[in-house]
Amino acid sequence: MNAQEMYEQAMHELAAKISLIRSGDLVCDHPIKQGDNYGTSCSICGERLAGYGYNARDFSLPCLHEWWPTGDGLHEVCTFCESVRQADT
Ligand SMILES: [Zn+2]
Ligand SMILES: [Zn+2]
Repeated sequence: MNAQEMYEQAMHELAAKISLIRSGDLVCDHPIKQGDNYGTSCSICGERLAGYGYNARDFSLPCLHEWWPTGDGLHEVCTFCESVRQADT
């Protein structure tokens, strides 16, 4: 099997999986994600996976923080809401 065929098979399997998820026969494990400055969401079921979710309009729910080092070695900052916490040492 060449690379093109492998790619096509993977796409075919993904499409089959997505249709099973959409019909409710398979629990979504969020195979395709979309993200922006607000957060990340699953493209299939729409579940919020990080921050406030992709293309968020509702900020009443708490942010699902995604922490990144600030560079000083002492703190981490959330990519989405810009909260700062003490880094794990
Ligand atoms: Zn999902
Ligand atoms: Zn956050």
